[in-house]
Amino acid sequence: MSLVTQLICVSCNRRFSPRDIDYTCPDCGPVRGTLEVEYDYDAVRRELSREKLARNRNATHWRYRPLLPVERPEFIQPLAVGWTPLYRNDAFRDRLGIGAVWIKDDSRNPTASLKDRASSVGVVRALEKGAAAMTAASTGNAASSLSAFTALAGLPTYIFVPEHAPRAKLVQLLLFGAHVIKVRGTYDDAFDLCWQAAEKWGWYNRSTAINPYLGEGKKTAALEICEQLDWQVPDWVFVPVGDGCIFQGMWKGFKDAHRLGWIERLPKMIGVQAEGSAALADAWERGADTAGPIEASTFADSISVGLPRDQVKALKAARESGGGFVRVSDAEIAEALALLARHAGIMAEPAGAAGLAGLRKMAQQGRLGANDTAVVMVTGHGLKDIDGVQKAMQREAIVVEKALEDVEEKLKAIQRG
Ligand SMILES: *Cc1c(COP(=O)(O)O)cnc(C)c1O
Repeated sequence: MSLVTQLICVSCNRRFSPRDIDYTCPDCGPVRGTLEVEYDYDAVRRELSREKLARNRNATHWRYRPLLPVERPEFIQPLAVGWTPLYRNDAFRDRLGIGAVWIKDDSRNPTASLKDRASSVGVVRALEKGAAAMTAASTGNAASSLSAFTALAGLPTYIFVPEHAPRAKLVQLLLFGAHVIKVRGTYDDAFDLCWQAAEKWGWYNRSTAINPYLGEGKKTAALEICEQLDWQVPDWVFVPVGDGCIFQGMWKGFKDAHRLGWIERLPKMIGVQAEGSAALADAWERGADTAGPIEASTFADSISVGLPRDQVKALKAARESGGGFVRVSDAEIAEALALLARHAGIMAEPAGAAGLAGLRKMAQQGRLGANDTAVVMVTGHGLKDIDGVQKAMQREAIVVEKALEDVEEKLKAIQRG
C-alpha cells in the first residue's frame, strides 16, 4: 500500500528497508544518522497529479496520501489536519517594501500547532507496527498533539517534558489522557530520558528527527503552499527553527513537488532562530557541519533547543536551497507577535511569530528585493502560552467605577495620552 521504497542515512548513505529499521542509522547514531524517506516516485505520479488534486475535495493533508508513509489507511485518525489557510498580507508587503507576503496559519490545526501534521503520521506508523504504547519528548506542542491522536487510537502515551513547559500545554496533555513525566531539567534532558525509556520498554517513539516519518508529515505544509499558490513558488520561505524538523520537512516537500514536476523552481529556505537558542545559526555562520550543544534560553519555548536533533538535514536544506539561518532577539519576536495580531488577525505563541521576525529582519537589512515574494510560517497558537504572549505587549485593561462618567473620564485620559 505504502509507496515508500527505502530509508537512506543522511550521513553515510546506507540504505535500509522500512521493515528493518524504525529510527536512525546504527552506524551514525541518533543525531548524525537521521534517515531520509524515499518513494517510488513513478508510482506516486500515477496516483497523484495537479489535475487530480484540483478535483480532490479532501480538505486535510491526507489529500497527499500517496506521498506519505501509510500502509494501512484505516489507522488514520479522524482529526482534520492541515489544509490550513494561506493569507495574502498586503500590510506587511507595504511595510517591508517587497513584492508579496503570505502567511500560512498552522495554528489552525486540531491541537493548535503544526505538530499535528507529524503526530497524525506517527500514530499510523505505531498502529501498523502493533506498538503497545507511544512516547515522546517535547517542549510541549509535539506532546499535546500526539496525545490527541493516541487518545483516539486508544494507545497509552508517556510524555517527557522539561520542568518549565507552559501550563496550557501541560493541561492539554493531561486532558487528552497522556501520562506526563516532568523532567527536572531541559528539553534536551527530557529527550535523552525518553529515548532510554523507549528502548527499555519498547514504546514507539515520536520524538522529533529520530523518527524519520515525522518530517514526512510536516512536508505537507510545503505541498499545500505550492497548491494554494497555484503551483507558483515563493522566492523565500521563513520557518521558526528549534530542532530543524519542520524546516527540513518543508524543504523535502518542495523537493518532492519539484521531482514530480508540479513546480518549476524551488524557494530559498530561511530558518529563524531565537538569539538565545541559535545552535544551527551558529553552525551555519561558522560553516560547521555540526550544531550544538549549547545552553538554550529564550521565551519562545517551542524553539528552545540546545542540541538540534535534525541538524544534518536542516543544514543540508539551507545549503541546497540557497537559503540559510537568521537569528532574532526575544524583543524582535515579541514585536513580530504583536504585529501579527494587529495586521494579520493571528494570535501566535512566541515561537510561532519568529518566522515573521526573521522576514522583518532580513527585509530591513535589504536582503530581499522589491519584487521578492515570501511565505511566513506561523507554527503555533498564542493561547498555548498566554504568559509568553503577555510578555509581548505592554497593555493593560482600563478599570472603571460602574458609572458612564468614569468611563468617559478614563477614555479622555487615554486620548490625552
Ligand atoms: C516545534 C515547534 C517549532 C520548531 O520546530 P522544529 O522542528 O523543532 O525546528 C516552531 N514553532 C512551534 C510552535 C513548534 O511547536
